[in-house]
Amino acid sequence: MRLVAATTNPGKLREIESILAPLRLEIVPVSTYPGLPEIEEDGTTFEENAVKKARLTAETTGEAALADDSGLEVDHLDGAPGVYSARFAGEPKSDAANNAKLLKLLEGVPWEKRAARFRCVIAVAVPGGPMLTAEGTCEGYILYELRGAGGFGYDPLFFVPEFGKTFAELPPEVKNRISHRGAALREIKEKLTEFLKLRG
Ligand code: IMP
Repeated sequence: MRLVAATTNPGKLREIESILAPLRLEIVPVSTYPGLPEIEEDGTTFEENAVKKARLTAETTGEAALADDSGLEVDHLDGAPGVYSARFAGEPKSDAANNAKLLKLLEGVPWEKRAARFRCVIAVAVPGGPMLTAEGTCEGYILYELRGAGGFGYDPLFFVPEFGKTFAELPPEVKNRISHRGAALREIKEKLTEFLKLRG
């Protein structure tokens, strides 16, 4: 079975390929299909956005499609930035501006109230078949200042107590092992395995 990965992020694509490798699917990036319409991420939940991207990509390519949507939820901010994580500080989207805005909003907020989690939902749409979904989370705290040079997005502010480091300070293979996206991908791998077995 061919699986179109609805992402333009090479890092995500590598992670998808490496975790789903045992399934022996033909995984191709959506860029293999030029001229597809842009998909607006206008849902109010990660699941709505992931399902919409997977469904529309499957419809326009005629192949099974995998999409993900992810973001950061901060308890003190009632779950913000959530689905608005990428453009938290407005357009054009900027990791530096997003991190600065987050620090500003948490000024004076004590450690125990800085609890946060990354959340990722992955959806796989199979034409004429089911919509599979999986979710992963990773718990941590928002640090008082940026630390570490790796990763992307909110990684330099996301502190994982178990390792005493931010996501930006952890080697990529460690981040992938404990991350929201890794967890969601491993769960979708189990669901895909089951689906392929039933389909025969
Ligand atoms: P998207 O799912 O690629 O649209 O990601 C949404 C936004 O959430 C990104 O632009 C980042 O700001 C944030 N985000 C999602 N996953 C991560 C992560 O693993 N590290 C840091 N930021 C992330």
